[in-house]
Amino acid sequence: MKKQQKTIGVEVPFPKEKCEDENCPFHGKLKLRGRIFKGKVISKDTHRSAIIAWDRQHYIPKYERYEKRRSKIAVHNPRCIDAQAGDDVKVIETRPISKTKHFVIIQKLKDETNISKNS
Ligand SMILES: [Zn+2]
Repeated sequence: MKKQQKTIGVEVPFPKEKCEDENCPFHGKLKLRGRIFKGKVISKDTHRSAIIAWDRQHYIPKYERYEKRRSKIAVHNPRCIDAQAGDDVKVIETRPISKTKHFVIIQKLKDETNISKNS
């Protein structure tokens, strides 16, 4: 049988580092499904969690204009990805990992220019 690298069902590069995290989509048992978002890490803590946020526009019909709103979610930050505050990351929905976490970081978008060139 041909040995195949585990895929997580989403087209993202496999992290170079290995980890023992059970809640890692690459090296653990975490299964991914649901919505995908891109955001910026605004803080991280020692429990492999991070807070990410992104801006969105909300339409106000009365004024026919948009106002800026900000979405903020708690995400799991696997050790092999280890995103730092300020990094742009891609997150995907998964089963609830803790009380507030049901998203996991699957990619660091460091080379934003490279990504837009390829697509
Ligand atoms: Zn991992």
